[in-house]
Parts: sequence; structure tokens; C-alpha cells
Amino acid sequence: MPNTEEDATRPYKRQRLNMDGGGAGDTDQPAGSSAVDAARTEPELSERLRKVMLCTVCLELPHPDDSYQCTLGHIVCEDCVTRLLAEAALNSRDAQCPHCRTHISWQELTKNLAVGQTLWELPKNCSDCEQQIEYKSLAKHLKTECTKRLVHCKYRCLGCIWQGCQEDSAQHEASCSNLQMSSDEILTALSTIDQLEQMAVQPLRQCHRQLSAQRISYEDLDLRWPQHTSRLNAELRFQSATIFVFEESWRLRVKLVLGATELRLSYSLKILSSPREILLVKYFATLPAIHVRAKQLMDVEPQLNQAYFNMPGQSSDFKLLPMSCPIATYRLLAMPRIKLRLWMMLN
Ligand SMILES: [Zn+2]
Ligand SMILES: [Zn+2]
Ligand SMILES: [Zn+2]
Ligand SMILES: [Zn+2]
Repeated sequence: MPNTEEDATRPYKRQRLNMDGGGAGDTDQPAGSSAVDAARTEPELSERLRKVMLCTVCLELPHPDDSYQCTLGHIVCEDCVTRLLAEAALNSRDAQCPHCRTHISWQELTKNLAVGQTLWELPKNCSDCEQQIEYKSLAKHLKTECTKRLVHCKYRCLGCIWQGCQEDSAQHEASCSNLQMSSDEILTALSTIDQLEQMAVQPLRQCHRQLSAQRISYEDLDLRWPQHTSRLNAELRFQSATIFVFEESWRLRVKLVLGATELRLSYSLKILSSPREILLVKYFATLPAIHVRAKQLMDVEPQLNQAYFNMPGQSSDFKLLPMSCPIATYRLLAMPRIKLRLWMMLN
């Protein structure tokens, strides 16, 4: 059960609406009665509802659009579901609701409309300032109103690396050392920023350029979980079925390294047939929209790889499959069947 001790002792500052219905005519309620005392000491309805709506795993209030329930009605947030499913798959066992041990899967989990709508109305503690804000106003609060939100110095573009609470930023900016920069120093700082921006868009440009390659092909691959999953060697390998592209047969191999703090995916392309000439193949992976949820579409960062193939059985080096954030890796592993769309280009 959620540990609610801390919440119960926290003073609750919201004003309750219609507390006394105007104050007049409450003559049948004797002053100082136990009912009045109870009303004063009992947490407010929204506070009690909040505790009922907590994710049973992380004990946080789920985002209203991301709350799921097991077949017995226990609430789990989407990130916790994703981790439960991925962890279960990694350990070759069925995923269970941590509360009642019933089997869970994306097919069995449902969303409860009433829970979602209630969550929108409930106050949630701002993760930065601890103030209680209704969910529907929280995004705006975090973005523009919270005085504890993390901000950068406004002279960041000139190279200042200061970051801190919004409420401290004015004091820093008044004395920021970048205010003393000469015009030459400012120009150097701006050109460095320019170069960094150019580098950041490079992978996209490369992919874009490759779309004019002589031959392009893509395949949606189903990656099979290894037959015997063992975490002892801290590495799992998956492979796709054979695919036929550019008149050759290929297979994609994916390696998952189970680090102490993160999971790292990398992939390698293997040619099975004997190529008639040396092939220079450029390739990258995305997620196929038809098999993944909208949220997952940007989970894999665009990064182009290339390799030469001139003999059968040859493999490219394992290249990192760049995931946008750690939960993105879990989202991929929590899929009922792991799918990747492999793009291959031949010039
Ligand atoms: Zn959770
Ligand atoms: Zn349950
Ligand atoms: Zn705040
Ligand atoms: Zn500064």
C-alpha cells in the first residue's frame, strides 16, 4: 500500500468550496460536536481521492492520459507498465500486477475513463516547488510560472553555462561574466554555436540526401527474443528472419547490453548471399508507425551507418541504435513483438 504518512502531515492549503453553504441556518449541528471536529481534521476529499489514484508501483499520480488498470482495477502509470513488461520479457517470465499478481500485458490493461477524468481535476505536487497544482494547469506552471524551475542564463548563447532556479536567475544575470565580453569574443561564441547547430542537423541531412540514392528499400523486421534468456553474460542477442534486398539475402542482428544503469542497443547488418560486386550499403533504423504507439515514433534518433559487403557471411560492425531516452529502450522491449524498420540504400 502507498505510504501516505508524509502526505497526511503536509498542510493542505487549498480552499474548499461550499464549506458551510453560507454559514447561516446550521442550527441542527451543535457547536463543538465531534462531527465538526472530524470535518476539521479529516483530509479533504481531493486529498483522499489523490491517494486512491496513485500508481501502485511508483506511488506517483499518473498523467491522466497515461493511467492503466489491471483486470482487478489496480492503477499503474504508463512508465511503470512499460518497465514491468520489459523487465518480465528480459527475465523470460510473464508480467504481473505488482499488487494482486494477475497477469498483465498491453492487451489486458485497460484505461478507466472515470479515473482519467478525475486525475485531470486533482491537484498534483509540482516536482520542482512542491506546490499543489491541478493537473490541467501543471504543464503551464512548470513551463512558465514555477519559481523553482530550472532555467539557463539568458546569455547562454554567448557561452554562459550557469543554470539554476528561475528565482535566482535575475541575480546571476545582473552579474554574469559574459556581460563583460568584447565584440570579438561575442562573435567567436556565436560562431561556435553555429557550428554545433550544423553538427546537430547533420544526421538528418545525411538521411535526407540518401533518399536520392539509386536504390532504396525498407523492411519491417520482427526481432525474435533469444530462446534461452540469461542475464548472466549481461548481453542478449536478437536476429531477424532473412530478408531479400537488392537481390541479396540479409539478416539484422541486434545486441542488447544490460549495463548496471542503462540498457544499450546496437545493431549489425549481415549479408548471407554472395554479392556479385562490392556493395556499399548505407542503412539506418526507425520504428514502423503501424506497429508502435504515436509516442514511440521519435524514440529512435536518426543516425546513418554504412558498410561494404563483398563476401557471404560478412557483417558490419555493431553500431549503436541511438534511443532518445532510457524509457524509450524499455518501450521497445515492452512491445509484444519487437519491430524495427530497416532502411537500406545502395548507390
Ligand atoms: Zn508508476
Ligand atoms: Zn492488480
Ligand atoms: Zn512549481
Ligand atoms: Zn550567465
